[in-house]
Amino acid sequence: NTSVVLFTSDLRVHDHPPLRAALARADAVVPLFVKDPAIEAIGFAGPNREAFLADCLADLDRRLRDRGGRLVVRAGDPVDEVRAVMREADADEVHMAAGVSRYAQTRERRLHEALEADGHRLHVHDAVVTALPPGAVTPTNSDHFAVFTPYLRRWSAQGVRPVLGAPRTVRVPDHVRSRPLPARDDITGISPGLARGGESEGRRRWQAWLRDGIDRYGERHDDLAGDATSKLSPHLHFGTLSCAELVHRARARATPGAEDFVRQLCWRDFHHQVLAARPRTATADYRTRGDRWRSPESAARDIRAWQEGRTGYPIVDAAMRQLLHEGWMHNRGRLLTASFLTKTLYVDWRVGARHFQRLLVDGDIANNQLNWQWMAGTGTDSRPNRVLNPVLQAKRYDPEGAYVRRWVPELAGLPGPAVHEPWKLPGPERERYDYPERILELAYGLVRFKRARGID
Ligand code: FAD
Repeated sequence: NTSVVLFTSDLRVHDHPPLRAALARADAVVPLFVKDPAIEAIGFAGPNREAFLADCLADLDRRLRDRGGRLVVRAGDPVDEVRAVMREADADEVHMAAGVSRYAQTRERRLHEALEADGHRLHVHDAVVTALPPGAVTPTNSDHFAVFTPYLRRWSAQGVRPVLGAPRTVRVPDHVRSRPLPARDDITGISPGLARGGESEGRRRWQAWLRDGIDRYGERHDDLAGDATSKLSPHLHFGTLSCAELVHRARARATPGAEDFVRQLCWRDFHHQVLAARPRTATADYRTRGDRWRSPESAARDIRAWQEGRTGYPIVDAAMRQLLHEGWMHNRGRLLTASFLTKTLYVDWRVGARHFQRLLVDGDIANNQLNWQWMAGTGTDSRPNRVLNPVLQAKRYDPEGAYVRRWVPELAGLPGPAVHEPWKLPGPERERYDYPERILELAYGLVRFKRARGID
């Protein structure tokens, strides 16, 4: 008999429970990826993620071919395409990873119903996209944790499932039709410094991270200029690396740095379990604070300056330009630019989340929307009114100004931390730098925010 393995956010052959389960039960499998126009229609497929996806699919196909198989790519509604492939392959069951977002949950339900009507079975596998399945640990009075520390405690105490090796052989029926694989070169509008995708690249990066980065992660991860984080987020987003495998391998090192790294992976699971339990928080406030955000029309000039990295606050501009150039931004940059947009400019978090989502190669509904909400104070943060001061943040996390000089070359002539406050330069010297004036005073933004939130 033949099984279909539907790949979604799990584009790998290592540690892949649906693939292993299908191979254990069937003589042949059809590894299938369906390009879904509905995902493109909701604006979720920005060019950076499309390009990274093209790399991932090409690499997955190569890895399957190394094992005697290949990847079948189709385009259209996933339910229709799965049924069509099942007919072609004469398959009787489908294996896939459990999804988290509302869209993924609906897709799963529709597939269940359709396959049941056909007399076939859908096997949905947990802990493929996350280390622990959402809902694996819950507090006594709720279906999800809204506070991170108790979640971390329970998550850490719970064992992660064993890691599975890659299969040696994958037999795929010859006659099942596939579309040509998408190619990165056909996609326009990609950020010039975008990283390469694919499981081979992900595993290479992971090995390098284990060798050179992880043990010093705790002390260095907030250094904006230090390139001291793993940059594995796009691989986790596309599932070219397995979160469960990373947790196992990092724990095995038993260093403080590796422990801090595992804690960040727990943040990822945390946001996924919030989204799984409250799918509407992809667009709606987790907790409403009564904000009456500035309208996008009245704030249009400020929003544009923020998006283009021209706010006049060098640290904010550096981070926003890193996003434009790489399709990726350092976590500290994400925190301070999100605080700046929502609390200093008092613009709705959805405006910022949409911009990030358009550009981020790791753009992820759970991590992006819920981190945005966390920073806007509408999410699960226990300190919803905290405002990050970009100048203090800059002095703390970019003490020598190296990050700003890298991304804001107009200011590269300014030495040391002076680069963070060009407005303090005496008039004639300030004029030498072709860099915008601040779009507003921080004190003004703070007063507006406090008044809006009713804080004395
Ligand atoms: P590392 O520091 O090496 O951390 C390892 C992994 O842990 C990351 O790859 C990521 O999977 C996970 N992780 C780390 N921090 C967080 C966090 N706060 N929340 C959830 N997971 C985390 N992350 C995304 O993957 N996709 C997004 O769309 C996204 N949007 C964000 C938006 C805002 C406003 C903020 C404040 C954070 C966002 N993050 C997002 C979380 C975090 O910034 C990135 O995961 C991290 O910067 C990725 O870099 P890294 O792989 O080098 O991380």
